[in-house]
Order: sequence, then structure tokens, then C-alpha cells
Amino acid sequence: MQGQREKAQNVVIVGGGFGGLYTALALAQRKNHPPVLLIEPSDRFLFLPLLYELLSGELRGWEIAPRYDGLLAGRGLAWLQDRVERIDADRQQLHTAAGRTLTYGRLVIATGAQSNTFAVPGADRHSLGFRSLADVERLQGLVSELKRLRKPLQRIAVVGAGPTGVELACKLADMAEGSAVIELIEQGPTLLPQARAFNREQAGLALQRRDVRLRTHTQVEAVEAETITLRCHPEGDSTAHSETLAVRAVVWTAGLSFRAPRIDPAPACDSRGRLRCGPDLRLEGHGNLFVVGDLAAPMDPGATAGDTPGAASPASAQVAFQQASVLATNLIRSLRGEPLEPFQWNDLGEMMSLGVGEASLTAAGVTLAGPAAYQLRRLAYLARLPGRPHQLRVAAGWLADWRP
Ligand SMILES: Cc1cc2nc3c(=O)[nH]c(=O)nc-3n(C[C@H](O)[C@H](O)[C@H](O)COP(=O)(O)OP(=O)(O)OC[C@H]3O[C@@H](n4cnc5c(N)ncnc54)[C@H](O)[C@@H]3O)c2cc1C
Repeated sequence: MQGQREKAQNVVIVGGGFGGLYTALALAQRKNHPPVLLIEPSDRFLFLPLLYELLSGELRGWEIAPRYDGLLAGRGLAWLQDRVERIDADRQQLHTAAGRTLTYGRLVIATGAQSNTFAVPGADRHSLGFRSLADVERLQGLVSELKRLRKPLQRIAVVGAGPTGVELACKLADMAEGSAVIELIEQGPTLLPQARAFNREQAGLALQRRDVRLRTHTQVEAVEAETITLRCHPEGDSTAHSETLAVRAVVWTAGLSFRAPRIDPAPACDSRGRLRCGPDLRLEGHGNLFVVGDLAAPMDPGATAGDTPGAASPASAQVAFQQASVLATNLIRSLRGEPLEPFQWNDLGEMMSLGVGEASLTAAGVTLAGPAAYQLRRLAYLARLPGRPHQLRVAAGWLADWRP
């Protein structure tokens, strides 16, 4: 058994999101790559940055949610539709929900993040999310109903004025065509605290133009089936007060929680629950385990003892995409016993969808907003869709739809 494990030269990737799928695709491009197995429970990859355009009908399901069997076919990559429940690092084995036990040579953990409702009473039960195809369908159904009923004071509350909350609020406002008020609830003093100044300014204007009600300094106290209770604590004002609003729906976009399958022995985590790893993306204390994407808290190559791991790389598709390429190299090097490369994030800029047909972007010293930014954003993401054949299919679809 010991000898078998030492000889295992296969790579198993757990999770087929940005980190996992793009690592698999990068491995497939390397000559004489090892056998690669991707384990992912869903049958479709979801290109999350374009989820807003799927919601509004500006893009089609097959474009942003291609099937894994089509993406992986003919590339020497295998896919198992299953969920990993436990990893036994000492035995180099993993156990799945369907009862399989598999042995790996190198294992990549790429299970990402879920939304976090911070134990706010009723939030898990009564709010919608915005991370899946099912979430999109639910929201589309809701907006159709609001437009059909057109009752006075129909409200949707979007919780969290980070990028997802702001982009979603703009799209929902355009889709609702005046049939609902969109409330955007933010506990901090401003929208988009981490964003580039230009994009934040454009986002503020886009929300104003759509009459989205931005409530800063406002915490959600409770969510019920048809109400949301807020606690407002205006700056410089000691008189905080609570308010309950009638809502048709609450969409929760604030906060992330990080959940890896159980790993024995337990690895080191940072204060947010992300897995601590070296600059080479190898899990601390586990030579054959690697981590990529939102779940990874890598030590910055230039960091010194006492620095916080993961501080230099935010949870974003851009980071996961860049990590995937370095990780593919490191997996091959690790199997050959060669030294590994450090990952260093190269910040390429920031793009935001701001309503139907509009966007804002800041990249390479250029700022742009409006319909031109919308087209550029679409083109930039076209080049990031998984695999050349899928990119070409989508490009052909867009050309066929193009009306000058
Ligand atoms: C609506 C939305 C819009 C976004 N827009 C942007 C943007 O514009 N730009 C940007 O840079 N980032 C954006 N992000 C963030 C970006 O999508 C994430 O940072 C990125 O998806 C992280 O990749 P990941 O591989 O770590 O996780 P994910 O992409 O979440 O993939 C994790 C995968 O693991 C699978 N999985 C989970 N548990 C298991 C298990 N036990 N066994 C097997 N598989 C498992 C899941 O099914 C999933 O497919 C957005 C996120 C959202 C929700």
C-alpha cells in the first residue's frame, strides 16, 4: 500500500469552479500531463461574473453555464459527478458522497465559498442567494410576477453593497421597469469600499439613475417571509433606530463562508476559515495537497513572519484564474520532484456590470463607463470563458445576433 501511494502520479481536483476547472484545463495543455480527474457535483460550470447578464436575458444559459462533459471531452481529462466528503491526507485517499474511495498522487482542493448570512435570524430561511442557476430562475420568476401584478410599493431588498449587491441591484431595477422599489442595504458607511474610485462613482450614479435606495450604516436584524427588519445607526448620531419594511423578497449578497471537505489531519486555517498555504499554493504541513481559488489563503512571496496569509489576493475569479496556471506548473513539478514556483497576483483591473447594456471599468490606467464599457467587458470575458472551442461557439453566437 505504501509503495502504491508513493507511485501514484495522478492529480485529483476537488471542485470544478474557476480554480479547479481552469487548473484542469491548464494541465491538459501541458505535454505528457499526468492523469487528471475533476470531481464536481454539478453538471455545468458557471461563469459567475456574467450571472447578471443571464438574469437579465442579455446572455443565454449555454454561454455562461456550459456542461462539463462538453468542456472536458477530447482533452484527456476525466470528470466524476460526485461530492468529496472527506480527505485522508496520510493515506492519500478521499471519500465521496456516493461511497467511492479514491487514491491520489496530488490533490487540489478548489471548493470555493458560499454566502454567509452571519446567523441573522431568518436570513438563511427567507432570503434568496445569487450564486446558482436556480437562484437566477427564482429571481426571474419573481420579477415577472412583480411586473404582472404591478401593486403599489412592491419591494426587493438586496443585502450588501459590495460588487454583487450593486451589480444585481442595477440589473433588477432595469428588469423590474418601475414595478418594484429596489432597496440596497449596507452596514458600512459607503458602497463598494474596496472598489476603484472611478467605478464607485459610476456605480453611485447608476444606482441614482435607477432610483435604487441605498441605505448605508444599516444592519439587517431579522428577515421574515414578507418583511425585513433593519437597524439604522447614522454616522455621528447616537440614536440608532429599527425599522421594518414589507418586502416581496430579500436577496442576500453580503459575506462569504469557506467550507472545505473534512481533511484529516486538520490543516491550518486563517481567521476567516480559509486554508493557509505557502506562496506555491501547497497546503501548510501537507506536501501532496494544494489549494486554489477563494478557499486559499496563500502567503505572499514577499511576506515576512507575522504577515497575514491571503492578504495580497482577494477572493475573485481573476485571482483563481491566475493561480490555476501557476498551480498546473507546480503540480507537474511536484510530481517530478522539482522546485515549485511562487504565485504572485497581478491585478489587471476591475470591471462592473451596471444595468442592462451598461458597465464601468478601470484597467491599465484607462477608465470607461456606459455602453462601450459594457461591450469591452463582454469581450474581455469572452477571452476568459473556459476553453477555445467554447469561446468560439459563444463568439459565433454573438456575431450571428449582431445588428449594426
Ligand atoms: C454573482 C457573482 C459574481 C461575481 N463576479 C465576479 C467578477 O466580476 N470578477 C471576479 O473576479 N470575481 C467575481 N466573482 C467571484 C468569483 O466568481 C469567485 O471568486 C470564483 O468563482 C472563485 O473560484 P473557486 O474555484 O474558488 O470557487 P467556485 O467558482 O465557487 O467553485 C467551487 C466549486 O466547488 C464545487 N464544490 C463545492 N464543494 C465540493 C465538494 N465537497 N466536492 C466537490 N466539489 C465541490 C462547487 O460545486 C463549485 O463548482 C463573482 C461571484 C459571484 C457569486
